[in-house]
Amino acid sequence: MASREVIETTLTQIIHETPRVLTFRLSVPMGHPFTFKAGQFVMASIPDFLNTKGRPVRRAYSVASSPLDLQKGYLELTITRVGDGGFFSNRIHDCREGDRILIDGPYGAFHLREKSGLQPSRYVFVGSGSGIAPLRGMIRTLLMEGSKVPIDLYYGFRHAHDFIYEGELLEYAETLSGFRLVTALSGRDHPGLPAGWKGRFGRITALLPELVPGFSNEEIYMCGPPEMVRQTEAFFQSAGYPEDRIHKEQW
Ligand SMILES: Cc1cc2nc3c(=O)[nH]c(=O)nc-3n(C[C@H](O)[C@H](O)[C@H](O)COP(=O)(O)OP(=O)(O)OC[C@H]3O[C@@H](n4cnc5c(N)ncnc54)[C@H](O)[C@@H]3O)c2cc1C
Repeated sequence: MASREVIETTLTQIIHETPRVLTFRLSVPMGHPFTFKAGQFVMASIPDFLNTKGRPVRRAYSVASSPLDLQKGYLELTITRVGDGGFFSNRIHDCREGDRILIDGPYGAFHLREKSGLQPSRYVFVGSGSGIAPLRGMIRTLLMEGSKVPIDLYYGFRHAHDFIYEGELLEYAETLSGFRLVTALSGRDHPGLPAGWKGRFGRITALLPELVPGFSNEEIYMCGPPEMVRQTEAFFQSAGYPEDRIHKEQW
């Protein structure tokens, strides 16, 4: 991975998504030529946060916003605080608005396909945990571009309070006729489950046979932990989806 120019951004807003997840809005200097494709990632570092060899601690983060948001001067990273041993994620969770964050990129082949003449019949996004981040960037892009292709989002997380982008995604589901949201809670128990919870229970991968009838020109994007991605990919392969319609990212 050839490294790119390091860009100094300013942390302008911290959005509390869940007890362990924050979204960091970073402003990119006006007129900077930085661009990316929806779904790609950047390497982030923090000035003076160095490893034992005196080098910057860098970690990969998917851009959770759309390239179209960049025209307004910002991009967003959505980061889970790892807790024990989480070297960089713990450090960035302690940052404050006004702090400087360094990024370089973009990197990665996981991104929305360029538009060709043939549109898919539907976009199907399957995400788990913070794997929703690049998918959200892609979905925002399609909606901001005015895409008329229906979107399904199947999104798994452990407990109801782990629902990242809850307000935004529920609003899409309630206001956009072509947007279908299926959430599933994988936790064993559900203390404090909100009254009127409309999601499902169990692993999102277990619901796929019921949700996806069979290949009919859809484009599939998945992101989550390795085991979830392995199972999701295996499902779509066995259901006859062509390889070039299946796109994946994992961490
Ligand atoms: C392409 C890509 C995109 C990504 N996008 C996102 C994103 O959008 N959001 C997000 O939250 N994350 C994302 N990640 C993950 C991110 O890059 C980091 O890996 C994550 O934030 C953890 O980094 P950390 O420095 O906090 O933890 P680390 O210090 O790297 O530790 C990670 C885990 O390993 C354990 N560990 C560390 N050292 C040891 C050791 N010596 N022995 C045993 N266990 C150890 C820690 O306890 C911890 O559980 C992405 C990763 C990739 C590759």
